[in-house]
Parts: sequence; structure tokens; C-alpha cells
Amino acid sequence: MSKQGAGTDVDMKHDLRKTYLLLWNFCRFCLLRCARMFQYAYAPFVLRCCADAGASRSRTTAKIPERFCVSPVKFITFEGIEGCGKSTQAKKLHEFLTNSILTREPGGTPAGEAIRKILIDENIAKLEAKTELFLNFAARLEHVEKLIKPALAAGRVVISDRFFDSSYAYQGSAFGLDGALIDEVRKMTIGSFSPDITFLIDLPVDTAFARIGNRTENNRYEKLGRDFHQRVRDGFLHLAKNNPRIRVVDGARSPERIFQEILTLIPKS
Ligand code: ADP
Repeated sequence: MSKQGAGTDVDMKHDLRKTYLLLWNFCRFCLLRCARMFQYAYAPFVLRCCADAGASRSRTTAKIPERFCVSPVKFITFEGIEGCGKSTQAKKLHEFLTNSILTREPGGTPAGEAIRKILIDENIAKLEAKTELFLNFAARLEHVEKLIKPALAAGRVVISDRFFDSSYAYQGSAFGLDGALIDEVRKMTIGSFSPDITFLIDLPVDTAFARIGNRTENNRYEKLGRDFHQRVRDGFLHLAKNNPRIRVVDGARSPERIFQEILTLIPKS
């Protein structure tokens, strides 16, 4: 091959590389534009791609637009009365955050699930409020030690459908146990361990009842009357009043609208 021919080859390769680079930059520009337009639809895709590629957490954080980064928040809980839509939102967030695990209370471990069966068993007409309290915290202790703490230590985000706020609202506000007693049992079992952020999905009792009316597997709590659930709702709202950890979200909107708000409430890195 002549020298001139070799030079042309090099020039052509150079031009090709420049064209590819231009194309690549153009694609990136388009993707970012789309991201702005379809904020929440785009984010799960990016997160999933990063996770699938085995990207490290810091790499993931660097790649996605800032408003989609979940950062200091590692342990997220959802609370509210039966039928408020908390499971729906917890699941949505779990699908959004590919690095997360979704769990629930009572439950989350074999022992916890066995305790759950006792607590929601319709054939057990009524348990003492203190029995319920101790059973819930026994299940919670297993949950924290065997599942939540190890998952957090492994760098996962943990999303739990209910946690200790439910004990204050159900066994405290609705069944009348003293908050100081609940504090004591909590200290004895899980100490100062606490969620980083809690979403209280707030909904009027009648609306929630209408939503779960057709549910085939209603549990024992769902069969308790309207007044009981009103006390639970009031209890949750009272807890949220002086606690910045608990963010009250209006549950009377569409699941998508609620989820959008939840995303905006999660602190970004
Ligand atoms: P919870 O876990 O609080 O008991 P779910 O998430 O299971 O509530 O929701 C109860 C029912 O209400 C389900 O049938 C669900 O599809 C429906 N639902 C959930 N969120 C909404 C919403 N924002 N608007 C209307 N229906 C909803």
C-alpha cells in the first residue's frame, strides 16, 4: 500500500470516530431531554440499567439526574389505616428502586410470618392489647435483626409495609395502651433503631373501607368497626404532628399522583 493510501485510511478512521462521537453525544442529549420530559417514567429505566450493569452505588448516583437519586434514606416505611393504599405505594417504590427489598410487618421472617398468622387469624376473636403488643414487637425484633439490619449492611434500601408506628396507632391510640409502655417495649426490643423516613398515607376511613370492600382476604383488623379505624387514623396523624420523620401524604388521589409526591419527598444526595 502506498504512503498516500495509508494516510487516507487513517484520515477515514479519524473521520469515522468523530462521526460516532457526534452521534453518541447527540443520542445522550436526546436521552437527557426525554428524561426531563418524562421524569418519573424515565428514572426506573436508568436505575434498572445501572443496576443490571452491576454499577456501583456511587456510579449509579453519578449517572442519573440528581432529582432521581435516593441517598441518605436507607430504611423507608409506609403506614396508614387498612385500605389506604400503602402496599400499592410500597410496591411502586420497590419497583422504582432496583436496589431495594420490600418487606412487611408483622412478618418478613419465618417467625414473623407465623406470628402474623396468629395476629390476623379471624378464628381468634380477641387478643389482649398487651398480647398484641408483645407479639408485634417479638416479630419486629426478628425482622430487624434477621432481615432489615443485614440488608442495610449489604447496601440495600429496605422498604417496609408498616413498622413500629403501627403499634402506637393500633395498640396505643385504638386499643388504649399507654404510649410510655409501648416506648418501653420498643426500647427493650429494637432500642433506638428507627426508619429514616415514613410515609403516612392518609385517607378517610369510609374511602378506605370502600376500597377494601371487595377484598377476598380481609383480616381480623379489617373487620373491626369504623370507630376503631377512625382512632387508628387519628393516632397516626397525632404521631405525625411532632415528628419530621413522618411525612403525611394525601391518599385520596390516583396511585400515580401519590407516587410522584413520594418521590419528591425522598431526600436526594
Ligand atoms: P393497604 O395496603 O393500605 O391495605 P392497598 O395498597 O392494598 O392498601 O390498597 C387497597 C385497595 O385500594 C386495592 O384494591 C388497591 O388497588 C386500591 N388502591 C390503592 N391505592 C389507590 C388509590 N390511590 N386510588 C384508588 N384505589 C387505590
